Amino acid sequence: MSIKILADISVKAYGANDYKTFTYSTNKELGLKVGSIVMIPFGKRQSLGVVIKIYPQDHPKPSYKILDVKEKIDINPLPLHLVKLAKWLADYYLASPKAIWQTILPSGLQVKNPRKLKQKTKQKVLIAPQIKLNPEQASAIKTIKASHDRAFLLHGITGSGKTEIYIRLIKEVINRSRSAIVLIPEISLTAQTVERFRSHFAGSIIVSHSKLTAAVRRNIWLEVLNAQKPQVIIGPRSSLFLPVQNLGLIVIDEEHESSYKQESAPKYNAVITAKKLADLTNSKLILGSATPSIASYFLTQKGKIKLLELKKRAKGQRLPEVEIIDLTKEPGLITDKLAKAIESTLKNRRQVILFLNRRGSANALICVDCGHTVKCPNCETTLTFHADQARLVCHYCGHTHLPQSICPQCQSTELIFIGSGTKKVEEQITKMFVGAKIARVDRDNSDIEHLDKVYQDLKNGEIDILIGTQMIARGLDIEGVDLVGVILADSMLAIPDFSSLERTFQLLTQVAGRAGRGREKAKVIIQTYAPDNPAVMHSKEHDFKNFYLTEIANRQKHSYPPFSYLLKLTYSNFNEARTKANAMQFADSLRKNYKNISVLGPVVCLHKKAANKFRYQVIVKSFDRTALAKIAKNLKIGWTADLDPINLV
Ligand code: ADP
Ligand code: ZN
Ligand code: ZN
Repeated sequence: MSIKILADISVKAYGANDYKTFTYSTNKELGLKVGSIVMIPFGKRQSLGVVIKIYPQDHPKPSYKILDVKEKIDINPLPLHLVKLAKWLADYYLASPKAIWQTILPSGLQVKNPRKLKQKTKQKVLIAPQIKLNPEQASAIKTIKASHDRAFLLHGITGSGKTEIYIRLIKEVINRSRSAIVLIPEISLTAQTVERFRSHFAGSIIVSHSKLTAAVRRNIWLEVLNAQKPQVIIGPRSSLFLPVQNLGLIVIDEEHESSYKQESAPKYNAVITAKKLADLTNSKLILGSATPSIASYFLTQKGKIKLLELKKRAKGQRLPEVEIIDLTKEPGLITDKLAKAIESTLKNRRQVILFLNRRGSANALICVDCGHTVKCPNCETTLTFHADQARLVCHYCGHTHLPQSICPQCQSTELIFIGSGTKKVEEQITKMFVGAKIARVDRDNSDIEHLDKVYQDLKNGEIDILIGTQMIARGLDIEGVDLVGVILADSMLAIPDFSSLERTFQLLTQVAGRAGRGREKAKVIIQTYAPDNPAVMHSKEHDFKNFYLTEIANRQKHSYPPFSYLLKLTYSNFNEARTKANAMQFADSLRKNYKNISVLGPVVCLHKKAANKFRYQVIVKSFDRTALAKIAKNLKIGWTADLDPINLV
């Protein structure tokens, strides 16, 4: 008779928010190891599972009936670090094994003899240019190599040569037979970045993105799992979970990007998760950005992450000059100054990027004369106009009032709702610059192929004026762009969120960085009603440091992260009245039952209805993360939680 041993298994079908494992028995000959993937009976169904623990042969068998492992999936076990990371994710972000394994394991693992996919035809690989590092780059690399620190923040202005540093570091780990994971924001123009990495690592590069079919994804996953030599993996946040064997380096480019936070379960933050992964694999973590997140920079100030700076552009170009146009003095959608600048840029046969932000078209009330936006007296966040109630609403605490007709700051009667008008930009530009080749990128046409085409067209001079939303702020490196115009900076400031200043500064600075990659004469024009806002003011000087100092003081004053933890709770229900009543009742019970928290709301969500259900949200703030975790873990039906949210609306 064969020898039976016991194994603890984390079951993929298990959907509750605790990392419970189940004990099964298995024949010793099956050769299960920690990390082995198995099929097991679970309730009335079967499920995939991952072996978490193997008991010694002589471990006493329990008195209750133990089910047998049905079969072992015939692939290598998961690397141990992923088994540990799975548990950490579940505990830290309060996610179910189901959500975790759906994220880590590809679908279709149990399929026997999968159809062979056609090998993609070999892509043309560019020849990597030979670049001599400048002193700043050389010194950053030297510090990273010599340091015993685990995590580094590479704060380098746009175009300072961060990517070149990543490439050198990757070469170095590959030489030590270890692999690297490089995260890049999903909707950045990935092809451009990938092109560049491919030219250096042609044979060992693996590219992942979210638009891949399940079959391709599974193949990539298996390729990584079975790899015999070190690899360079490039992809979005989920690439952290590919089963790399011998990880040595993790790079997160544009680490401030909000796409590194997953908004569905498991609601993890890739920067935090990468830090854990680096610990588990003894790898180095490099975060790179021209505009670091407040959270990451704060950690450098606390000595938790080592700060490295690149203050000059790689090819020695100056940063473009930024001009702020005060719309309270010179009103207009396209002001005369901006129009003249576009005209002269076109005359010089150079290119223009115009940036507008529709996402921020939340209706905020703004004073045309002084730029004042109407804010909540309790929370200092911008109030949002809800047409159905004809009221301004605070999306944190629920405070509402009628839209005023007189500016509280300057007594002007010229108050307007912003968010209207931006759609007219393309129309107006088309009318003003007859004959110019105009292209547009926004949410409605933002798939990777389209972005790719726009990038190629721009590079080849097929586009004179590109109009776009925040997507075009990212990564674009085009030598022909001499002018970048921001139509209305305020539409970003008006997003009612504790991080809206941070987002505005990042966007303005990144957008401005698109200009002057090629020549000295580049210019940036920012139109705004709020020229004195710190996010606008400091982006004019490309001055992250002073922006950080202003903003961190602000966060401290109002006890927002990184000085506190937040939990966003959302409740949805088909019945509007019941949604509100239940949300109220729950908020009250939290106030009664927990001491060290403050509860804001409930308030109707900015997107009031989703999937036919009404939605209310409650924000809980605390200095104690475990208190918030406890609340998130014990929610009733209808509630969802986001611990450490990066936006509150
Ligand atoms: P970042 O990632 O900081 O925006 P990149 O690495 O993309 O900067 O560099 C910007 C441009 O400068 C690229 O075209 C790159 O090839 C070039 N570059 C980088 N380092 C050097 C260097 N040491 N000497 C000359 N050119 C460089
Ligand atoms: Zn005013
Ligand atoms: Zn409020």
